[in-house]
Amino acid sequence: MKTMELVSPKILISFNPSTGEKLAEIVPDSSKDVSLKVKRADDAQDNWKNLRISQRLESIRRLHDILSRESERIANNLSVETGRPLQESLGAEILPTLRGLQFLCKSAPALLKPIRAGSHGMFAYAEPYGVVAVIGTWNYPLYLNIITICQALAAGNTVVWKPSELAIHSALEIEKLFELAGFPDGVVEIVYGDAEAGRLLTRADCDKYVFTGGVQSGRSILAELAKSGKPSVMELSGNDAFIVCMDAPLELAARSAVWGRVSNAGQSCIAPQRFYVVQSIYESFLNRLRVHLEALRLCELTPLRTEPARQRCHHLVREAVEHGARLLVGGEFDTQKPGFHYTPVLLADCNDSMSVMKEDLFAPVITVCPVMNEHEAVLKANSNPMGLGASVWTNDIVQGKKLASQLKVGMVSINDVLMDASHPEVSFGGVRSSGFGKLRGAQGIAEFVVRKVVAEHSVIGFRRHLFPYFPSAAELLKSAATIRGAGGWRSVPNLIRSAIAWQRQFSAFKKKTGENKP
Ligand code: NAD
Repeated sequence: MKTMELVSPKILISFNPSTGEKLAEIVPDSSKDVSLKVKRADDAQDNWKNLRISQRLESIRRLHDILSRESERIANNLSVETGRPLQESLGAEILPTLRGLQFLCKSAPALLKPIRAGSHGMFAYAEPYGVVAVIGTWNYPLYLNIITICQALAAGNTVVWKPSELAIHSALEIEKLFELAGFPDGVVEIVYGDAEAGRLLTRADCDKYVFTGGVQSGRSILAELAKSGKPSVMELSGNDAFIVCMDAPLELAARSAVWGRVSNAGQSCIAPQRFYVVQSIYESFLNRLRVHLEALRLCELTPLRTEPARQRCHHLVREAVEHGARLLVGGEFDTQKPGFHYTPVLLADCNDSMSVMKEDLFAPVITVCPVMNEHEAVLKANSNPMGLGASVWTNDIVQGKKLASQLKVGMVSINDVLMDASHPEVSFGGVRSSGFGKLRGAQGIAEFVVRKVVAEHSVIGFRRHLFPYFPSAAELLKSAATIRGAGGWRSVPNLIRSAIAWQRQFSAFKKKTGENKP
């Protein structure tokens, strides 16, 4: 059974990972197509930028309303391409997208207002970058792409979007949404294709790049962008630690662990992956995980997106077992169903040297590692170079906050998994190998504007008026500097003296040259 195929004459086809049904096919864009689309976005930018913000938000509101009206049909379309239950498409894509768009429409006017820069008639205006390129992934094809695109649009940019080759059916649906919402021509252009189309886009002349995907692809893109010095936001892979303290609410932690790691087949960048559990509650926590995982046998679960992903996951689980991990649940190809199903796995006694712990697994595998105490858990959590998110489980909120502050990640939740705690109104992003910059929330909007400072009446003129310099000018500036320190008022007489001296020298200079200072 296939997932995606590139057939002659180079046609990309997307398949349903649960059934193998063919969903959509498309001819990838050529280099000429990509240049043309970027040019169309560039040509449309001035008119779009010159609209009032309320007019731009009007189109976004229409998009929101269509999405709300047609939520079930759209969720079904997302589900067939990801292979996941309808509830996951509704709960994890449609609802947060609607909420994110509402937040955008409500907050953008205030967030995009000019801000005062200093106290002397200087303002920083929110100017769009121009054309923003968005290169996206497939695991949440609606939510992860639409809010980013709309934030860029609200700020006055036009967008060229390259959806994932594993989500072209969903992308065609999203393209229709933009058409129905009545965005002007060229405001949102879509480049179809695989990594090659993405590479063409990174070489095109866009003004800012937003990438969501794996660390390796992100680094290749950064290397390409370094040649032109283009700014970017990088939302890359995660490998989130899940720290279970001695006093954790164990039942809540176990249920959340299973939901966090198994929904969407673990294919969420902020799914918990490395479970560090304090020794004294280790077996008890494992038992609870086992019970919750076994109960899932009766439920509809999401398959892995591709066969290579399933093979990789199986290989890593086997390898961990060979290196001493205990396989407590799952780890088989689910042959009862068509598609790339893999029974959720519980692996105990893992350690950080195992690939299953080190790599971004993107699969329904819970890897548990015992630790002596919370301090050791934090050390181990921070030993992985990725820094997207983490969660801490404890009934002591003070200890929870302390541990959260010690974790080298972009986001932490206490007694929650980030997939529930991360919210479209809150900015999202990692640190270290997991990337930089923020998407969504207020900081997400800020990523799409350049704060251009316009000095309407500036004190810089003070120095210009002192030119050409007389010795008294240095005295005057020295007094101005000391006045700013503690007890600086004692320098006021000095300031007055040097100002008078400067005025005299300046008058003499004017007499000599006959010049009139403005
Ligand atoms: P991927 O890196 O293979 O591809 C992502 C996108 O980039 C696709 O559209 C692809 O065609 C394009 N691409 C790949 N190589 C490229 C290159 N050299 N130049 C330009 N474009 C290129 O990742 P994926 O398999 O689509 O997604 C899974 C990864 O994404 C996981 O590692 C996951 O953790 C990560 N992810 C991160 C976030 C986040 O917000 N941090 C969200 C979702 C997924």
